[in-house]
Amino acid sequence: MTRDEDLIRIAKKLDKMVSRNNTEGAMDLLKELQSFNMTLKLLQETRIGMSVNNIRKHCTDEELTVEIKKEKLRRDSCDSKPSQPVRRHSSDSKPDRWESTDSKKSGSPTAKKLAGDSIRDKCIEMLAAALRTDNDYKDFGTNCDSMAAEIEDHIYQENKATDMKYKNRVRSRISNLKDPKNPELRRNVLAGSIELSRIATMSAEEMASNELKKLRNVLTQEAIREHQMAKTGGTTTDLLQCSKCKKKNCTYNQVQTRSADEPMTTFVLCNECGNRWKFC
Ligand SMILES: [Zn+2]
Repeated sequence: MTRDEDLIRIAKKLDKMVSRNNTEGAMDLLKELQSFNMTLKLLQETRIGMSVNNIRKHCTDEELTVEIKKEKLRRDSCDSKPSQPVRRHSSDSKPDRWESTDSKKSGSPTAKKLAGDSIRDKCIEMLAAALRTDNDYKDFGTNCDSMAAEIEDHIYQENKATDMKYKNRVRSRISNLKDPKNPELRRNVLAGSIELSRIATMSAEEMASNELKKLRNVLTQEAIREHQMAKTGGTTTDLLQCSKCKKKNCTYNQVQTRSADEPMTTFVLCNECGNRWKFC
């Protein structure tokens, strides 16, 4: 059996488990998946990402959820390898974003929304490359492709056209994100401390501001800690509700971020949509 065939076999088994609503044995399959040296090509050809996502929606077992999360992290990091081309059309590995932004707006099929506007795709690709400057994104575990797609979408929604204004806006984001004199801007975006809707509209002065530089230290440290924590798993709970998708399937960790006599910070990850937040 080739690796593709093996992956397809696992994907079929996972799909079957979902259709039977019985996730017994899924753990072993996911462990088997980890032995694969996953590439973007394999992911796209086998649609294994879709199967893993589907089983994630069905599983309740805590250990399984953690295992899937690890698998997802691996896929995300594989997704954002700089050498890989941006394949926005094959959304298998990141369906969440398109579901959340598109399906609500209209009843038309997702495929229509994705159908190629080559200018927009190119802009997303360049924005993603700018976000990957100096490999900072690895510290934050950011999926640059989906982040770039979201920034581009904000710009496009404002202009409703890929005209000169749109292109200039994209271009100025790119040059500022790549600016070697202002790595703080990029790191703040990657860390999530600047809203993506905001970076889409900031003026050049704002992007270069000193305030942002001050923001950085605290937020960067927290983002890195949060990312590392997500990798090591956490406690799954149905007591916390996600403000984005309103579901109650979260994983949380408590960390002593400041001095010992201050309260713990709780970092929360939504297992449904990937939303993250924290509270004290
Ligand atoms: Zn959520």
